[in-house]
Amino acid sequence: MAPTALITGITGQDGAYLAQMLLGKGYNVYGVVRRSSHFGIADHRLRWLKIEKDVKFLDANLTDLSSLIRCVETAKPDEVYNLAAQSFVASSWQQPILTGNVTGVGAANVMEAVRIAQPTAHFYQASSSEMFGLIQEAHQNERTPFYPRSPYGAAKLYAHWMTVNYRESFGMHASSGILFNHESPLRGIEFVTRKVTDAVARIKLGKLNELRLGNIDAKRDWGHARDYVEAMWLMLQQEKPDDYVVATGRTVSVRDMVEIAFGHVGLKPADYLVIDPELFRPAEVDILLGDPTKAKQALGWQPKTTLEEMICEMVDADIVRHS
Ligand code: GDP
Repeated sequence: MAPTALITGITGQDGAYLAQMLLGKGYNVYGVVRRSSHFGIADHRLRWLKIEKDVKFLDANLTDLSSLIRCVETAKPDEVYNLAAQSFVASSWQQPILTGNVTGVGAANVMEAVRIAQPTAHFYQASSSEMFGLIQEAHQNERTPFYPRSPYGAAKLYAHWMTVNYRESFGMHASSGILFNHESPLRGIEFVTRKVTDAVARIKLGKLNELRLGNIDAKRDWGHARDYVEAMWLMLQQEKPDDYVVATGRTVSVRDMVEIAFGHVGLKPADYLVIDPELFRPAEVDILLGDPTKAKQALGWQPKTTLEEMICEMVDADIVRHS
C-alpha cells in the first residue's frame, strides 16, 4: 500500500517541493492549510509545480490542537512533516508572541496531535540554523551550543527541544532537521535571495531602478530547497530518529550573492544598490556555516546545487514571471 504523508506548511516553499518529491515516490499527500477570509487556498507554489490537484487539503490551524488531531485522524499518516511557521526573522520582532505561538507552541501542538491520534507516525520538525544565532563555533554541527538572536530563533529552539523530548519521553520517531538557509524560485519575496533575484529581473526588464538592502555583510550558508527536502525524507526513513544539520558547508556574504545575481544578467550592483538603515535588524546573525558531515555519513545526503546555479535559476524564473 502507498504510504501517506501529512505536511503542515504545504503552501510554503519547502512544503511544495516536499509534496512534489513524495508524490513522485507514490505517496498519498495531505496538506494542512490555514483558511483565511481570502478566497481559495494560497496554492500558487503548488500550481507552479503543477501538483495542486494531487494534494488533499485539510483545514487546520497550528494554534488549534483539536483541528490538528482531526487532520491526523483523517489522514492516518505514516509520516508527518511540520513545516508550518511564522518563518520570517525580521517579522518576528514585530510579532514576537504570535511567532512563539505558531512557530514554537504550534510545533508542540502538532506533536501532541500525532502522539494522541497516530503515535507510530514518523515525525519531522523543521528546525533552523537561526537557533545558532550568535555562533559559538566556527562550523555549526549537531553538538554546537545554541544562541538564538531573534524571537523566531527562540521559538524554533523551543520546538527543537520539544521534538527531542517527545522522542525521549514518549518514544516517538521524532527527528529534527536543523536546516541552514535554503532558497529557490519558490522562496518568499521577503527573504533576501528572492528579494534580490526579483529586483534584478525587474531592473533587467526596465521595470525598476534600484534595490534597497540592509546589512549586506551578513554571511549565510545557502542551499537549494529542492535538495534539502530530500534530507527531510531520508531522516524519516531511518530506523532511529535523530537530529541532523543540513547545510552546504560554504558561507557567502549577501554582498557576493548580489554580485552573482546582477552578474548573471550582465549588470553591476553598484549602479542600483542602495543601503537602507531601516532594513537593519535589532539583532543580527552575522554568519552561519553548517557542518553537514553527519547527514552525509548517516543519511548519504549531499547538496547537488551550487549557490551560483541556484541564484541563476532564481533570476531566470523571475524574468519569466515579470516578462
Ligand atoms: P534569515 O537568515 O532567515 O534571516 O534569512 P533572510 O534571507 O531574511 O536574511 C538573510 C540575511 O540577509 C540577514 O542577515 C539579513 O539581515 C540580510 N539582509 C540584508 N538586507 C536584507 C533585506 O533587504 N531583506 C532581508 N530579508 N534580509 C536582508
